[in-house]
Amino acid sequence: MSSSFCCSTAPIPLSQVGAGNGSKKSTRDVKNLVRSLGVHKLRASPIESLESGNWVKLICGASFEDVVDIRNLSLVYTLAGVDCIDCAADESVVRAVNQGIDAARSILPVGRPWVMISANDDEDLHFRKAEFDPADCPLDCTRPCENVCPANAIILSKKDCLKKEHLQHAAGGVITERCYGCGRCFPVCPYDKIRLVTYSRDVDATAKLLSREDVNALEIHTNGRETSHFKTLWDGLGEAVTSLRLVAVSLPYAGEQTISSMNTMFSIMEPSLRCSNLWQLDGRPMSGDIGRGATRESIAFAVRLAAASDRPSGFLQLAGGTNAHTVAGLRKHGLFQSKLSPRNGQSEYGSFGSSCASIGGIAFGGYARKIVGRALNSMPSSSEKHGETHPLIEDFPHYLWMALMEAAGLVGTVKNYDAALLPGR
Ligand code: SF4
Ligand code: SF4
Repeated sequence: MSSSFCCSTAPIPLSQVGAGNGSKKSTRDVKNLVRSLGVHKLRASPIESLESGNWVKLICGASFEDVVDIRNLSLVYTLAGVDCIDCAADESVVRAVNQGIDAARSILPVGRPWVMISANDDEDLHFRKAEFDPADCPLDCTRPCENVCPANAIILSKKDCLKKEHLQHAAGGVITERCYGCGRCFPVCPYDKIRLVTYSRDVDATAKLLSREDVNALEIHTNGRETSHFKTLWDGLGEAVTSLRLVAVSLPYAGEQTISSMNTMFSIMEPSLRCSNLWQLDGRPMSGDIGRGATRESIAFAVRLAAASDRPSGFLQLAGGTNAHTVAGLRKHGLFQSKLSPRNGQSEYGSFGSSCASIGGIAFGGYARKIVGRALNSMPSSSEKHGETHPLIEDFPHYLWMALMEAAGLVGTVKNYDAALLPGR
């Protein structure tokens, strides 16, 4: 299946929405699209998806906290058939994800994706925010920071600030809720006005969130080198991890040390691990929207890990630079939905038998948000239907249809949807 790759987040003129067959789309068209793809018939549990190699996770972003976008993204990707939605360990964000899932399932009873929250054991790229005081910026600056930001998180004009009235910090500069810490603004500022501030999620607050019925999984971001921080976090979470359905550890490739660190972390987790575990191979963090080549590092990481007979138990899943080209890259190496070597086929909790896929699936972050962002950014800023000041995408079916086409095109690369059923593909 092909998927349109270059999508800017620029709004789409209303006259172009639904272009393709020349008509505006209704909720019935949305339902028909989901039915024709067969999303409502997908009955595999998320674990079965991992075993089959067709697991798809939407990454909202460990630091992305724009609850309006998160709710709408969750709705669109639930209808597109994802297995899991990964979000910030923040109560309002978790609520927004679940609201999006519920809204999607009230349109059509598709499967409920698991909700995963992200924590960090130490300083980590995914847990930082940019900040600067726009009053310090020279008036003649051409504002390259604003142009380079993939999250539309830098707003320097009053007019644009007014459009973002649902956000708490829209007085100019960086909109905290939208910044997810990619760092692209930092090197382009000619006057060194931007700071990147790292933070850690509070362990007790994270443990409390894990006890919620609508949170199913945890992801721990770690640097793959210093496992003592990992142990401190794991011990701090205590009993909270015992009710989970899945524990993911997200790590970059750390050279020869990678496998030994993974084994150490697994031995730390094992005594209190009551569910399956997953290794998220973070190739080139937060870069999937940049271009075709961004996915190479994640694929190279997967090739190394799939061949390693001494790695610990756990599903393997790609992230960091993943985009519409990731499946083709995996296929090239014979790793897309191919079977696991029997030598890695042992686990107490996951069924890592020889019938399991060598790669459990793919998580999509910045690229997934970007392709749907065009439709989200095009919606009117308020919905009169429910007296809401925040736009609900289901109130604008033609935008929902367009967003869903994009999302299904991407998810379908892994779920093997029939490309011919996606109009314009
Ligand atoms: S760090 Fe990234 S998301 Fe945050 S303001 Fe800078 S460019 Fe935007
Ligand atoms: S590039 Fe630097 S100086 Fe220019 S507007 Fe952005 S933060 Fe201010």
